Amino acid sequence: MIRRSILRASQMCAAMLAVMALAGGAGAAQPLRVVATLSVFADLVKQVGGENVEVSTVASPRFNPHFVECKPSDVLKVKKADLLVHGGLDLEAWRGPLLDAAGNPDLFSGGKGELDLSVGIPLLEVPDRPLSRLMGDIHLYGNPHYWLNPENAKIMARAIAAKLSEIDPAHADAYQKRLADFLSRLDQKIAQWKQAAAPIRGKEAIAYHNEWPYLADFLGIKIEQFLESKPGIPPSPKHIGFLEEYIRSHNIRAIVQPTYFPRSASEELAKRTGAKVVTLCQNLGELPETKDYFSFIDYDVRQMVEALGGSSSE
Ligand SMILES: [Zn+2]
Repeated sequence: MIRRSILRASQMCAAMLAVMALAGGAGAAQPLRVVATLSVFADLVKQVGGENVEVSTVASPRFNPHFVECKPSDVLKVKKADLLVHGGLDLEAWRGPLLDAAGNPDLFSGGKGELDLSVGIPLLEVPDRPLSRLMGDIHLYGNPHYWLNPENAKIMARAIAAKLSEIDPAHADAYQKRLADFLSRLDQKIAQWKQAAAPIRGKEAIAYHNEWPYLADFLGIKIEQFLESKPGIPPSPKHIGFLEEYIRSHNIRAIVQPTYFPRSASEELAKRTGAKVVTLCQNLGELPETKDYFSFIDYDVRQMVEALGGSSSE
């Protein structure tokens, strides 16, 4: 008798918890809890999700997105998240351990709360044979820095709107409306950026790490030589010697890199050749003026046009 009443009490308790869970679930007024691996993905989620999402970011924009040390607070955020938005491929090699530590089954690959933004992106530099990290390479499935082509931002924003609508159908209309606004603003900016970059079409820069092919494609410029002889391998004196010759023979004016790579090798090359070291942002929020997707690409386009503009560098 006593046992039965305990059982009944625990069943009632479970039923009450289920009702509470429903009341506090995704269909209610509470915003969806979204974790984005990178700041640029977080911004796109905010642009599309508006007040219906609460977004946090794992990687600080001030560091190399390939190498991130996750904190216990990141594990907690992922544990409680309704949705994880990430870059796919092997950009965030730290994502797997973070997911394992958080143990939120919905967020694992193929889960209902997982969004891989690389799906549908026309990837560049996809290798024609399997590569291995053992050889030092960190772009094993193609170049993962695809968010720097604004045309790809359209694909990403559409994927975000579709995913948010799927897990929060009550706000699907709002997501679609915000997506349409974002795409229309982006189209206007794309036209302006293309126009600004017209004078530098066909020009060439070199870079520290191979993270600019999507931006270069968008602007119609060439960035094909890097201080790293292979992505992830620091510059060697022999390779710097080759680049010195390359800069001279191709009349290169700019060596571009984000804020988080060491500058000494680039500065040395610049001193020897007369080229300039130019800071481009790889991450949104890496510099204070890059506070949303538009100001982020604005900054990079402006820097590139200033660095390569003026008289011909051919
Ligand atoms: Zn990279």
